[in-house]
Amino acid sequence: MTQNSKLRTPIPYGRQHITEADIQAVVETLQSDFLTQGPKVAEFEQAFAAYVGAKYAVAVSNGTAALHLSAMALGVKEGSRVITTPITFVASANCVRYCGGEVAFCDIDPETGLIDIKKLRQMVETQCRGHYDGIIPVDFAGNPVNLEELRALADEHGLWIIEDAAHSPGGFFIDSKGDKQHCGNGRYAELAIFSFHPVKHIATSEGGMVTTNDEELYKMLLLYRTHGITRDPDLLEEHHGGWYMEMQALGYNYRIPDMLCALGISQLARADEGMARRKEIARVYDEAFAGTEGIEVLGTNSAALTESGETGHAYHLYVIQVEDRKGLYDFLREHQIFAQVHYIPAHTMPYYRELGYKKGDFPEAEDYYGRCLSLPMYPTLSEEEQRFVIERVKEFVQR
Ligand SMILES: *Cc1c(COP(=O)(O)O)cnc(C)c1O
Repeated sequence: MTQNSKLRTPIPYGRQHITEADIQAVVETLQSDFLTQGPKVAEFEQAFAAYVGAKYAVAVSNGTAALHLSAMALGVKEGSRVITTPITFVASANCVRYCGGEVAFCDIDPETGLIDIKKLRQMVETQCRGHYDGIIPVDFAGNPVNLEELRALADEHGLWIIEDAAHSPGGFFIDSKGDKQHCGNGRYAELAIFSFHPVKHIATSEGGMVTTNDEELYKMLLLYRTHGITRDPDLLEEHHGGWYMEMQALGYNYRIPDMLCALGISQLARADEGMARRKEIARVYDEAFAGTEGIEVLGTNSAALTESGETGHAYHLYVIQVEDRKGLYDFLREHQIFAQVHYIPAHTMPYYRELGYKKGDFPEAEDYYGRCLSLPMYPTLSEEEQRFVIERVKEFVQR
């Protein structure tokens, strides 16, 4: 990774990294015969499935489309109840609404910012079987949810799981046998989704992916991605000739173009490098803030740490918590550092308030929101830039 030794401002909280090779890859597809559905789509899907260790991957137009298709494939409909966390990008909840289902939020564990599995268990156990349909846990900030634990709970109560892994490609947790379980590997969750928005690990401008080990779900995703239309001779009910196709379900146009997949393939080839750099940046922040009064660093899920101290945290975000968050946010802006807040709790959004949620419903999420700030975290953040960020943060909290 090129680390420019200069200090460039403004410093955003996240930014994409586009290389000459990325540009060449896109230009080559522009010169090919395929502007939308060409060979790069399947190539990207196969490379991504291999990267996360899943059997199947379906590339789509964005992460939100990936969530929508996933909810559809699992049969979310009017009357369905699906549990997710309020500390996430609203799309994790909205996909349930697209299908007419109800969103049930579950509060977070303040140590990690992840859905609190103990509270989730209470929530599920106080209702009769069948009350809830599924869970959408989020690997928030890149911190992997312990899906082995969640799967056990889901199986007891007949729930499905969609892992929202938009923050965690390349992340992993350690299972009870001591093995690494990569985010989105399909081992514990029926489906997992990823986003390739520019602030995420792999950028295709707009783009998303669903991964799964379930062939039936995979086929449904393919169908729903393209209007519900199939040409697969094995699936057709009738056969009229070479032109013949059938629309078998109400699907969407959630395709991702070939040129964006070419960019994704090129980016994916550098994913390990980017991850190593993210972990290094996190280590430097950790050291700088250790023991600094007034700064709390959001914890790593203990399941994401190996015995040797290696971390499976994918560090999409580096989150600190401070008492005067607005003060720090404004102070950093004055210095051209654009830290960001992730997230305003979804249940406090006017749309969800209208559905019956209110402030005070999820105190841990709301307390977290009042103090959180995501500091710059991206592979091309230079050492000088990071030092500048650390100095300004410390200057503010220590004055
Ligand atoms: C980015 C993101 C999404 C949505 O992805 P888009 O590609 O922007 O549609 C969903 N969930 C989480 C947690 C995200 O961060």
